[in-house]
Amino acid sequence: MTIFSKIISGEIPCNKVLENDNFLAFHDINPKAPVHILIIPKVTVANFQEVSPETMVGMTTFIHEVAKLLGLDQSGYRLITNNGNDGGQEVMHLHFHLLGGAKLSWNHLSDSDSKNFL
Ligand code: AMP
Repeated sequence: MTIFSKIISGEIPCNKVLENDNFLAFHDINPKAPVHILIIPKVTVANFQEVSPETMVGMTTFIHEVAKLLGLDQSGYRLITNNGNDGGQEVMHLHFHLLGGAKLSWNHLSDSDSKNFL
């Protein structure tokens, strides 16, 4: 069982942003941007390579809702999913990183230090 499954079941708390029957959005515990949200499906699926197109339909709508809720639909954002070992995926439950709140450079993630913006 991954840590995100425990967050979905309520066993581990999270700083929730939005939830519906199928998806959950919460703040990343180690933010890499002024706004760093994780968006996950409640169904257990390892990563993007494993997800069904049907789940991604709902996921897309949900990500749009989270972006609107936080005003990122206007200011812009970056959406990332790390897939598997070479992609740097640490938690094997599909998640999208929604990053925003500042103009992000292309190499932002490699040199970002939360002390600089939090
Ligand atoms: P990835 O490397 O794409 O698998 O990203 C995993 C992300 O999960 C990292 O950005 C972590 O900071 C984040 N993370 C791990 N545990 C928690 C937690 N309990 N609550 C919120 N975010 C978490």
